[in-house]
Parts: sequence; structure tokens; C-alpha cells
Amino acid sequence: MKRISFLGLGLMGAAMARRLLDQGFDLTVWNRNASRAEALVKSGARLATSPAAAARNADAVIAMLADDDASRSVWLGESGALAVMDRGALAIDSSTLTVGWMRELGAQAAARGVSFLDAPVTGSKPQAEQGVLNFLVGGESAAAERAAPLFKAMGRGHVHVGPAGSGALLKLINNFMCGVQLASLGEAIAMAQRSGLDVRRTADVLSAGSPGSPIVKMVVERMVSRDYTPNFLVPLMVKDLTYAMETFAAEGIELADARAARERFIEAAAAGYQDRDIASVVEPLRRD
Ligand code: NAP
Repeated sequence: MKRISFLGLGLMGAAMARRLLDQGFDLTVWNRNASRAEALVKSGARLATSPAAAARNADAVIAMLADDDASRSVWLGESGALAVMDRGALAIDSSTLTVGWMRELGAQAAARGVSFLDAPVTGSKPQAEQGVLNFLVGGESAAAERAAPLFKAMGRGHVHVGPAGSGALLKLINNFMCGVQLASLGEAIAMAQRSGLDVRRTADVLSAGSPGSPIVKMVVERMVSRDYTPNFLVPLMVKDLTYAMETFAAEGIELADARAARERFIEAAAAGYQDRDIASVVEPLRRD
């Protein structure tokens, strides 16, 4: 497991690819917008001109892309990665995607003799940079074991959850809860601000008390200081909540709270925060 190709160098992918490079893997990178690869290429990564060019002769190909459409086009589209991969090579998608698409891609990979893992991550940009992500892995356990050194290089390690699609399923359950908490945190901070409570003191009490989950603790300071430097973009949370709602609905659970939270993130995007961090969900609710 030496020659690794990384497809998708956004906020997360660039940091994950950097970890692989720093730990001595022979790294080839591809990104739709090639300028995002410049820093990695300066540090020794090879730049490929297409997903297929990146995937040829690779032992493992890892993708970190926005959504199902992006993932589908990078794996299966014109100049897609899967068609050129060697039999026995490993295809890993670490993006947050739907269970149905992950199962379909797993089946397509199996038909070509390629091992496939859906391996979305918990943790955000700082955790990717520090190498402390956790990979939630779906697929065959032998493939998960083969990929373990890669997960260790990019994070703390992995949890093998079950067959293909299981990692995606657990990730959507995880992010549904994160999205709901952040929307409610935005409402709470806006309520303090509108009603004249000291916002910082309110944030301190919430963080230190029962509502102070890890995600609340991580994001509350950004809401208070109105620092919306991107760690996790607003449209990606809309996407995660949409995928979660569809997934739960298929099991007969209507996610009313995810629907309400999703509206808050849509409002933030419509208010001009579509390229900003999810902490900006508070902004349309503030009264200046
Ligand atoms: P990002 O910064 O927006 O990067 C998205 C990546 O997808 C970029 O490389 C982008 O390429 C590429 N892309 C988008 N549409 C494409 C298309 N049609 N064809 C080819 N490439 C396309 O997002 P991110 O924060 O790195 O997130 C990546 C994935 O990880 C998402 O599924 C997200 O939900 C998940 N995730 C994010 C976080 C987080 O905290 N940020 C945490 C866990 C999981 P260009 O540069 O050319 O636009």
C-alpha cells in the first residue's frame, strides 16, 4: 500500500492528502480546480490531469468530494477513476454521501475486482490537519484491515461498522445530530443577543453545562466572535441533513427536527453565507 491517489482537495481533502505526503506515501493528487493542488505539488505530490490518470497503477485511490453527484462523476464519469484501477486495488470514498450510492459504487467496484470501502470521517478541518479524524468504515473487513495504515496516517484510526454503505449510514446519523445541535445553538445565541443577555457569558454557561456537547463547544466561540472562516461550509450541512432525512424516511422515521435545522442553514445560505462556515447559521437570526 505505497502508491496512493487522492481525488478532491477541498478543505478536508487537502489536509488529509498532506498527512499522507508527510508520512512518506507516494502521492498523486487530482482536483477539478487544479490550483488547489499547488501547495501539495510543491511539497512533492504528483499532479494528475484526470481522475483516471491519477488512479492508473495506484494501490489505493481515496476520494473526498462534495456530494453524490461529484463522487459519481469522479469514479464513473468520463475519465473516471474506477474503470482504470487494477484488480485487487482499493477504492475508498471518505466524502459524506448517501447509503444507496455507496452500495451501488461498492457493487460496481466488486464487478471489476476492486475492493471498495465507504469511509466517511468524524472531525472537521482542524482534526484533519492534526491527524485525529475517525473513519467510519463500511465494506469487507479484510479490505478495512488493508486500509488501516492509511486511516492511521490520516487520523486516529477507524471503526469497521459493517458492509458497504454502513459507514455512510452512521455518518448521516452522526451529522443529523450535529446539524440539529448547531441550529439550536444559533437560535440560543441569537435569543441571548436580541434580548440583551451577555452573549459571551451565555455561551460560557451553555458550553460548561448540559448542552455543551463537543460540537457545541467547538463552534460556539465562532458564533460569539462572528468568525465564519470556513471549516465546514453551509451548503454541505444542507446536503447532509437532506441525505439524512431521506435515509431516515426510508425506515419510516420523519426527521422533523432535521427539517427545521435544514431550514436554518438554507436561510444562512440565502443571506449570503453560502461560502462561509456553518457557525454563520446564527447570522439571519441576529438583530443588529
Ligand atoms: P469543500 O472544501 O467544499 O471541497 C469539495 C471538493 O469537492 C473540492 O475538491 C471540489 O472541487 C470537489 N467537487 C465539488 N463538486 C465537484 C464535481 N462536480 N466534480 C468534481 N469535483 C467536485 O468540502 P470539504 O469540507 O472538503 O468536504 C468534502 C466532503 O467531506 C463532503 O462530503 C463533506 O460533507 C465531508 N465532510 C466535511 C467536513 C468538514 O468539516 N469540512 C467534515 C467531515 C466530512 P473544486 O475545488 O474544483 O471545487
